[in-house]
Amino acid sequence: MTDAYAVFGNPIGHSKSPFIHAAFARACGQDMAYAAIEAPLGGFGSALAAFRAEGGRGANVTAPFKLDAFAAADVLSERARAAGAVNALKFEDGRTLGENFDGLGLLRDIEVNLGFAVAGRRVLLLGAGGAARGAAPAILERRPALLTVANRDEAKAAALVEAFAALGPLDACGYEALARRPAYDLVLNSTSASWRGEAPPAPPSCFARGALAVELVYGRGLTPFLAEAKTAGAGQLADGVGMLVEQAAEAFAWWRGVRPETRAVIAELTVPLV
Ligand code: NDP
Repeated sequence: MTDAYAVFGNPIGHSKSPFIHAAFARACGQDMAYAAIEAPLGGFGSALAAFRAEGGRGANVTAPFKLDAFAAADVLSERARAAGAVNALKFEDGRTLGENFDGLGLLRDIEVNLGFAVAGRRVLLLGAGGAARGAAPAILERRPALLTVANRDEAKAAALVEAFAALGPLDACGYEALARRPAYDLVLNSTSASWRGEAPPAPPSCFARGALAVELVYGRGLTPFLAEAKTAGAGQLADGVGMLVEQAAEAFAWWRGVRPETRAVIAELTVPLV
């Protein structure tokens, strides 16, 4: 029997997850169907319950439902607990298991696909929203020299630092203070500024010569953030397509017990950074 999975979001029309999981299923010989479900705002719980009642085996969860998914899970992984959000669910033995693979997917892209070792490096995380909460513990696990979180709303950056202070060396600041700090080897844009054609106001001096600059938003080519990073001397640029596909591969492996190859799918979804 074909096993049913789905991604829940609102809106969901833009989601690449059905394409990604269909490609993984073909490549791994898995008999599964994967749908995109637009749950009404405020209606995630009942949409999920209906899907489960119809035989659904698991789900991905995207904006704005990651906190609802956290609340819907009976059992949370350590990663989901740390992030305070869930982006993958599995229905097993009458229970709903909640995971968060965003941070792991980002790290796997940075280390395996982009060939950048985080250990001992200075890392700057721009933004302090849900994506930053997934990324921060995963980065700290790799023992950077320092992880700085910068956000417009400085109180949000400070709260994030407080939540993860035990995991490694990290601090918080506003964008203006970045100009007085030494440059960073890895700069991650986890803000949503690119959706409005804007860049977060990070000064050019925050990019070390040859730095890796990663934009978490994907499919938008050379965003203002990536253009500024390039001008400021960053040596390597990437967007969030690798993170997206790698977190999907982690969810697929969790559900199906086999980890798919990601390279071809990333290549297919890559929009040139020009
Ligand atoms: P949130 O809404 O939780 O957080 C948004 C963040 O962006 C906040 O820190 C906010 O700052 C900041 N921000 C928004 N506009 C600006 C601006 N003009 N200048 C500076 N900062 C700004 O979003 P998420 O954290 O969930 O997601 C962030 C982005 O990451 C999304 O746009 C999404 O596309 C991408 N993403 C990609 C994934 C992938 O797989 N590639 C996975 C998850 C997310 P403030 O608090 O000051 O308002």
